[in-house]
Amino acid sequence: MSTIYPSGDSRFVYTPVEGENKPFRVLLYYKYVTISDVAEFAAEHLAFCKEVGLKGRILVAHEGINGTVSGTVEQTNQYIAYMHNHPLFRDLVFKIDDAEEHAFQKIFVRPRKELVTFRLEDDVNPNEITGTHLKPKQFYEMLQQEDVIVIDGRNDYEYDIGHFRNAIRPEVESFREFPEWIRENMQGFKDRPILTYCTGGIRCEKLSGFLMKEGFQNVYQLDGGIVTYGKDPEVQGQLFDGRMYVFDERISVPVNQVEPVVVGTCYHCGAPEDRYINCANDFCHKQHICCTSCEVKYNLFCSTQCEEFWLNRSEG
Ligand SMILES: [Zn+2]
Ligand SMILES: [Zn+2]
Repeated sequence: MSTIYPSGDSRFVYTPVEGENKPFRVLLYYKYVTISDVAEFAAEHLAFCKEVGLKGRILVAHEGINGTVSGTVEQTNQYIAYMHNHPLFRDLVFKIDDAEEHAFQKIFVRPRKELVTFRLEDDVNPNEITGTHLKPKQFYEMLQQEDVIVIDGRNDYEYDIGHFRNAIRPEVESFREFPEWIRENMQGFKDRPILTYCTGGIRCEKLSGFLMKEGFQNVYQLDGGIVTYGKDPEVQGQLFDGRMYVFDERISVPVNQVEPVVVGTCYHCGAPEDRYINCANDFCHKQHICCTSCEVKYNLFCSTQCEEFWLNRSEG
């Protein structure tokens, strides 16, 4: 993984990281910037991605863009160059992972109302209000202060396979539940330093802005998210326990290069495990943490009910 901070002109040159030469790459990126004609932009963007052969999921909204795409090194370089030639995205930061294969089956470019769904009447514009951005080293140092409150800005199932040590697990299954959860649980911490983090940083742009609007005094966010933190040559993912959940076929990736530990537990037997699988019942598909012996014992199903249902489905 390497992070590219482009120079801002079109003569963009990418230098591969030494020692990493896998055939594919996964790009993660976002930018809050006004896109006036969302439908037209999305259609053109999709046509370009198809032409290049990229796969992945890109959200386009009036407030900006958020994407994860995979492709060969050549394809992803074409995409980066294309975006850096676009007047709105000359400074777009790409987080790059090396991969053995595509991380998606298809390409989607979806027009959306919001990039991350808050559904607030009074929405947060991160270009107007957002928490102070901390580089990985600064975040690592602040994490070790005694008075800080660390809020995981992701969903509970993401937290469950990996999170920063001592971070608060939000009882939210989706991002739109955050405002209510914060209003109900965080009121006592308004004068404490608050650190927020998420996968690539996009959710914290809004979450930290929301906290400030709610009257929290000192709000900080991890710049570039866990993705960037895990690859920082100095901190090397330290103080992150477990693996990072990702929204593609890899399901999770490692973060802590110094002292990796397992924090998840098998849904069936409770043994330490950090691997999610999907229930083999196509009508369930419940994503659950499952150890290798329970995977065999339960035949990839989340429950014996699901197994019985699925095996008997054609007999009705
Ligand atoms: Zn088990
Ligand atoms: Zn199931």
